[in-house]
Amino acid sequence: MTNEIVARVQELRAAIAEHNERYYNLDAPVVSDAQYDDLVIELRELEEKYPDLKTPDSPTFTVGATPTGQFQTVEHRIPMMSLDNAFNKTELLNWHDRVLRFGEISQVELNLELKIDGLAISLLYVNGKYFRGATRGNGRVGEDVTSNVKTVKAIPKKLEGLTDFANEVEVRGEIYLPIQAFEDINIQREADGLPLFANPRNSAAGSLRQKNPKITASRPLSFWSYQLGHVSGIEMPKSHSESLDWLESKGFPVERHRKVVRTIDEALAYIGEIEKKRHDLNFEIDGVVLKVNDLELQNKIGATSHAPRWAIAYKFPPEERQTLLKEIKVSVGKTGRITPFAQLDPVRVSGSLVSKASLHNYGQIVEKDLRPGDTVIIRKAGDVIPEVVKPILELRPKGLKAFDFPKFCPSCQSELVRFQDVADIYCPNSKCPDQLIQRLAYFCSRTALDIEGLSEKRLEILIENHLLNDVADLYSLDSEKIKQIRGFGDKGITTILDLIEKSKSSPFSRVLVGLTIPHVGPVVAGSVAARYKTFEEIMAATIEELQEIDGIGEIVAESIFKFFRNEGNVDVIERLKLAGLGVMAIEDAPIVDPSLAGVLEGKTFVVTGTLDKYKREEAESLLIALGAKVTSSVSKNTTALIAGAKPGASKISGAEKHGIPIVDESGFEALISTGNLDF
Ligand code: NAD
Repeated sequence: MTNEIVARVQELRAAIAEHNERYYNLDAPVVSDAQYDDLVIELRELEEKYPDLKTPDSPTFTVGATPTGQFQTVEHRIPMMSLDNAFNKTELLNWHDRVLRFGEISQVELNLELKIDGLAISLLYVNGKYFRGATRGNGRVGEDVTSNVKTVKAIPKKLEGLTDFANEVEVRGEIYLPIQAFEDINIQREADGLPLFANPRNSAAGSLRQKNPKITASRPLSFWSYQLGHVSGIEMPKSHSESLDWLESKGFPVERHRKVVRTIDEALAYIGEIEKKRHDLNFEIDGVVLKVNDLELQNKIGATSHAPRWAIAYKFPPEERQTLLKEIKVSVGKTGRITPFAQLDPVRVSGSLVSKASLHNYGQIVEKDLRPGDTVIIRKAGDVIPEVVKPILELRPKGLKAFDFPKFCPSCQSELVRFQDVADIYCPNSKCPDQLIQRLAYFCSRTALDIEGLSEKRLEILIENHLLNDVADLYSLDSEKIKQIRGFGDKGITTILDLIEKSKSSPFSRVLVGLTIPHVGPVVAGSVAARYKTFEEIMAATIEELQEIDGIGEIVAESIFKFFRNEGNVDVIERLKLAGLGVMAIEDAPIVDPSLAGVLEGKTFVVTGTLDKYKREEAESLLIALGAKVTSSVSKNTTALIAGAKPGASKISGAEKHGIPIVDESGFEALISTGNLDF
C-alpha cells in the first residue's frame, strides 16, 4: 500500500463527509447523487482491497450525518438504518442468494414497496397520542422535530383503541413533498433569489427542518408509513405486510402499490411495472424496496453496521431524453470560477420540465464535443439540474462550429485566466460584481451566518447602490441609506439589521465557512475551529501545523495559509473582528455544567480510540473546559487514559506500565458530568 492510496482514502473520506454535511444537515448538496455514489464506491473498493485502512468512522460504515445542534437530539431505541442498493438485476439476484443463505431457506416471501424520495422520520405514540417526531440523523441520534411534524396533516395525532398507559408505538415512514408542491416552492425560491432545492428529498427535509413550525405548516408535506419501530403494550404482528395492515387500520397512510411475492422473478416483474408508471405518481420515487416479509426471519438474517441484510433498495437508472442544445452560457461563482451551462429546448425528464443543465467546466465541453445546435441526450438522476450526457453525432447539422469559450468575464469583462493543471477557468477580479453577489449570498446562507431575508436580488441592489463592497460592509449598513432605495420597507430593514446584529454571535466555525476560503466547507471549518479559537491563532499556524488537524491535507492547509496572508482578506477579517465576529466563539466551546468549571484543574488525560458519542476533539475540549490538561502520550503524570474502540496499543501498554486507570466511554461520561475521579 502506497502513501498515495492512504492519501486518496483520506481525501475521499473528507469529501464524502463534506457532502453528507451539505446533504443531510444543510439540505443543499453541491454534487449529484450519482457523483456522490461514485466517491462512496471508490472508497468502498479501496477499503475492501486494503482492509487495514478500514476505520469504524468511515462513511462506508456510518449512516447520514450527526445532527448540527439546531434542534434538540433524540436517541433512537432501535437504530434507523440506511438501505443497501442494487443498481441492476445481477446485484439483486446476489442479494436474494445472500438472504437464502443467511436465512438457511430455499424460498423467501418478499414484501415489495415503492422507495419514496423523502426523508425518514420516527413518530412516537404514547397512550395512543402523538408524542414525538424525530429525524434519522446519524441513525443513532436524530433531531427532535415534534412541533414541525405536528403540522403534517396526513400524520394521525391520535390512534383509536390505544389508550392503555402501557402502550408505546414507534412508527417509521417517509415525509415527502408532492411533485407539484416541490416545483412550486422552487419557482418561488427562484423569484426570491434563493438557491433551488436540488431534489424532492432536499425540499422535504428543508421544509421540515425549519426553526419556525409555521413555515413547515405552510408547505404541503405528506407522509407514507412503511415500518413499525419499537412497540410495547401491543402484540407485534408476525410479518411486515401484517404490520402495514395494522398501520393502515390505525389511520396511517400506507402506499397502495405494496405487494407480497414469493419469487425473485415476480419481484423483477413488479420492478418493471413500477418503472413504467413511476411518473404517473404525484410524488417522486427513486426505486423499489424489497423486504423479507417474515419478521422472525428478518431477525435471523440481521444487519451490517449501517443497513439491514433483509432489505434492499433497487434503484432505477436515471431517465434519459433528447433535446436541442440551443446555447452555452457561463456563470460566475463565489470564488470566481466560471461554470458553463447549457440552455436547452424545454423537455420533460423524470417528471419535471428541464431547460438548463450544468456543464461543470470547459474540459467537459471539449471532452464531450458539445456544440450549440447539437441534439443532445440529457439525464436526470433525481436532481433538478440535470446532466448533458453526449451529443448525437448522427443528428449534427453540417458545418456546426465548436464552442468558443468566452475570453472575458460576462459580469466585469476582466480577461479570464486558467491556472496550470486545473480544469477550471476563473475571473481573477475579486471585486467582480457577480462574484461579490455569490460571496455575500453564501455568507448570508444557512450554511454560514444565516442572515435570512438578504436574497441574491436584494444583495445585488445593495451592491449597485455602493452600500456593499465585501462581507464586512454588512456590519456597517446604515438603515437611513437603505431606506432611500426602492423595494426596502421599514419593517424589512429592521428585520435584516436585527439578523445581522444577531449573526455577530455566530460560532467561529460559521464565520470561517462564510469567508469562502477555497476548499473550506462546514466540516473543515468545524475541525479548524475545534483547534484554533481565534483568527490570530489561525494566522500564526504554519502549513505543517494546519495539516495536523484530522481531515486536512496539504492542499487544504496551503489554501487556508495563503488565504490568511492575502492583504484584502486580512482587511475584511480585521473589520469583521471590529464588528465583534469570531471574537466570542460561544457555541464552539463545549457546554459544561458551570458548577463543574475547573473541577479537573491540575489533572492530565490522554484520549485514544473511537468514542461512540464524541469525536476525539470534542472529548478533549470537554476535558479542557473542565480545567484538565490533555496530552498525546501517557506518562506517569497522566491521571487517566480515556479509551474508546480500537485504542492505540502503545497508550494501553503505557497506562498498564504506570498503573494508570483506563476509563471507557461510560466512565468518561460520568467524569464529565460529575467531575468525580473515582474510576
Ligand atoms: P437511501 O436513500 O438510498 O435509502 C435509505 C432510505 O430510504 C431510508 O432511510 C428511508 O428514508 C428511505 N425509504 C424510502 N422508501 C422506503 C421504504 N418503502 N422502506 C424503507 N425505507 C424507505 O439511503 P440514505 O442513506 O438515506 O442516502 C444515501 C443516498 O443519498 C446515496 O445513495 C446518495 O445518492 C444520496 N446522497 C447524496 C449526497 C449528495 O451530495 N448528492 C450526499 C449524501 C447522500
